[in-house]
Amino acid sequence: MFDGLKDKLNGFREDVEESAEEAEPVDAESDVDEASRVGDTDDVGDTDPSTFQRAKAFATGRIIIEEEDLEEPLWDLEMALLESDVEMSVAERILDSVRETMLGESRKQVETTGELVEEALHDALLEVIAVGQFDFEARIAEAEKPVTIVFTGVNGVGKTTSIAKLSEWLADRGYSSVLANGDTYRAGANEQIREHAERLDRELISHEQGGDPAAVIYDAVEYAAANDVDVVLGDTAGRLHTSDDLMAQLEKIDRVVDPDMTLFVDEAVAGQDAVNRAREFDDAAAIDGAILTKADADSSGGAAISVAYVTGKPILFLGTGQEYDDLRRFDPEALVDSLLGEA
Ligand code: GDP
Repeated sequence: MFDGLKDKLNGFREDVEESAEEAEPVDAESDVDEASRVGDTDDVGDTDPSTFQRAKAFATGRIIIEEEDLEEPLWDLEMALLESDVEMSVAERILDSVRETMLGESRKQVETTGELVEEALHDALLEVIAVGQFDFEARIAEAEKPVTIVFTGVNGVGKTTSIAKLSEWLADRGYSSVLANGDTYRAGANEQIREHAERLDRELISHEQGGDPAAVIYDAVEYAAANDVDVVLGDTAGRLHTSDDLMAQLEKIDRVVDPDMTLFVDEAVAGQDAVNRAREFDDAAAIDGAILTKADADSSGGAAISVAYVTGKPILFLGTGQEYDDLRRFDPEALVDSLLGEA
């Protein structure tokens, strides 16, 4: 998972190490002697102040990274992030944050350049990846039952499979669920979700093709209330004639059933397209979070890094395969550790 991005981040660490090494003073000892003679000021005769600072730091085991050491590696990092389908504003935020940590006054003292890079990347990545995170399970536990979750996103990305996986995830934690097919637009949608419902032995609420999706989900909420079912998982159409129709439909569902959560589903492998769609769907009907499917097949990691920062809503789950238990709670800290090779 995300191996291409992992390699590129590692490349940045090597780049900075290399340029910092090249910039290290050849004779640190003599520079430091001079430093102790003239005191801790910038007025050190022939010695350039930055060389002086660097020499002093080098002799005491501290690291000083200069802006020019970072210029090329940061440029390469930006290119690497963009090649990995990281959204432009997200790549810029990461770069700013890395630059700040590595050059800023407040940077902590670490042992090696490699450690400094790792700390800077760790904080920069976590800052964008962890945007909006909340405890999904606690929210289910605390909400009044039935909890209604509506799923949006285009067809073919794994939306129906994700609904089935989430139904299993909930069952593993003691919550019953009913499936509802609010995709009344597409021929074959009922059959597609029915297959999962039958395999998992869940109730499915569906209407004829062409029916009102808000009415289907409303019926599922009624069914859940009458039968003590904890959670309603409602699919919706991924595409209609126009995006205005789609928006109107999602708005009507919002009005009629007032869902507790709207989750956007897309595939990690779609990279930048998935990020753009997340933004569009969030604009159309505010989402509360996202599920990224097919993370098992994604090398770039761009969508996983960008979606939360771009929408302000967290990625809650990753789909990691075709089986029902291939759904993982998205853990920003664990993802960053794995990208930086710590896990
Ligand atoms: P929908 O049209 O969006 O409802 O898409 P489906 O749920 O039918 O999924 C489309 C295809 O993607 C199916 O073959 C699924 O098995 C596959 N799929 C869904 N999620 C994942 C995942 O996390 N990893 C992999 N490798 N395949 C997935």
